[in-house]
Amino acid sequence: MGTYPRYITPSLEPFDPIELARETEEIVCKGDARKYTDFYATGVYGGIATGYTCGCCLRCVFCWVDWSRDFPEHYGQFYGSRRLTTEFTNRLAPNVMINTDKTRSVSLMRTSSMLIAVQWIDL
Ligand code: SF4
Repeated sequence: MGTYPRYITPSLEPFDPIELARETEEIVCKGDARKYTDFYATGVYGGIATGYTCGCCLRCVFCWVDWSRDFPEHYGQFYGSRRLTTEFTNRLAPNVMINTDKTRSVSLMRTSSMLIAVQWIDL
């Protein structure tokens, strides 16, 4: 962890984002689980939920993500697919409209990377 690139400083050495992605994956992924710092749900668009992940392989100067981007080993908890589904379902339940086909789409948007995953949950 000694050379893990953190926030930008004048002395920050150039880094390989692919290598940083691998290093970050070692920190924030464990089996099918990934570290999340928080969740948010609201009723817009018929009900959406967002998971806030930690860790990123870039260091954009305009980034608004908190310290969990640069110190992912100190933030978040691991959520596997089952725990994540429960978290999203519980948070969405008060905010989502019921479809007649009993199917919901849950968008899992990573705030600290470009990956967007979509899960379908049968209720
Ligand atoms: S979280 Fe987004 S804005 Fe922040 S460093 Fe990563 S890619 Fe850039």
